[in-house]
Amino acid sequence: MDELTQRQRYNLKRKIEELKLCKGKHTELISLYVPPSKQIFDVNSYLKNEFSQSQNIKSKTTRKNVLSAIESIMSRLRYFKQPPENGVVFFVGHKSIEGDQTEMVAYVIEPPLPITTFLYRCDSSFYVEPLEEFLTEKEIYGLFLIDRRECTVGILKGDKVELLKYMTSQVPGKHGKGGQSQRRFERLTEVAAHEWFVKCGEKVSEIFLAEEKLKGIFVGGSGPTKQYFIDEGYLHYEIQNKVIDTFDTGYTDEFGLKELVSVASETMTELKISKEKKVMKRFLKEVTKTERSLAIYGEAQVRRALEMGVVDILLLSEDLRKYRIKMKCQSCDYTEDRIVDEEALQSFSPPTCPKCNTSIQMEIQEKIDLVDEFSDLAEKTGTKVHLISRNSEEGDSLYLAFNGLAGILRYPVEI
Ligand code: ZN
Repeated sequence: MDELTQRQRYNLKRKIEELKLCKGKHTELISLYVPPSKQIFDVNSYLKNEFSQSQNIKSKTTRKNVLSAIESIMSRLRYFKQPPENGVVFFVGHKSIEGDQTEMVAYVIEPPLPITTFLYRCDSSFYVEPLEEFLTEKEIYGLFLIDRRECTVGILKGDKVELLKYMTSQVPGKHGKGGQSQRRFERLTEVAAHEWFVKCGEKVSEIFLAEEKLKGIFVGGSGPTKQYFIDEGYLHYEIQNKVIDTFDTGYTDEFGLKELVSVASETMTELKISKEKKVMKRFLKEVTKTERSLAIYGEAQVRRALEMGVVDILLLSEDLRKYRIKMKCQSCDYTEDRIVDEEALQSFSPPTCPKCNTSIQMEIQEKIDLVDEFSDLAEKTGTKVHLISRNSEEGDSLYLAFNGLAGILRYPVEI
């Protein structure tokens, strides 16, 4: 629920890139974050107040630009009776273009996750950090080590291990003096151990319940105690449910946390980190096959295969940045498509119509991001889509060697 789909992540990332390119000459770009709980009426009052405050801006141009940006947001706000499910963000203002020119831009974004804080900011760039926050990988794992002497609680964020709590017990060792007092000693030991586990269970649960983004918990320790502790239900049930597995470690102190991460890392790479690598390795293996290869690549081939419905997995580089431009002649209805990259898109101007013998320039009908277009095609035929970053060597090769577009077929077929 609080996870973005690959597609949402991609779209948001692109939008943020676009917003970051907007620069104001002065502090005249307005960012307004409206959380779902905020009353539109209150937002309006807030803006009215900002409007009157902004009358005091000294520079005439800046004042004019800020006021018109606020007005623009207020007029857009009229379309909302209440904020959408996840709230809404406005980015409005005059961005610099060539020379001394400015151009008014207005973005209204309904984010894929709820906005938590109301925020108004007027600056020389748009304030996108809260949106970027949605993109940070929420790879947070809980760690704890337990035996009858020690309990250590930590957290793994990305590849960083943090110690949160270290506790030691008063539980006596298992071996008493023997003889008649032995049984009494054992009973007392068990009582003390139970109390120790209760105390640890409460502390561990308390710490991890406060960590909302915990993806799972790894438990370590040297003996059978860790498993006993889990099985006997000393943890809060929500925390208990997040336990991924237990692992043997030689230490149960701070040093043991790193040890736990290292022994658990195989399981962890299974979970997420190596997913991209894994699928890319499969593709690269297919590429090298001379017979019955399932690999396809290149825009035209992948498109044909998708239309035939024979693609099992579609691989798209997050950095693809290619667009299909659909053009049409206004006079004879001749149409033509061009694939261009980001740079060419900026300066693209349609050629004249090759059918009519006039100098009529064709008109641009539509610009489509290839990632969107191919994802849509894939959806229609039940093809799994993987958006691949360039963070791994394999992901980089998709971008560099295969133009960011490839696939694995369901079965070998001539495309
Ligand atoms: Zn024509």
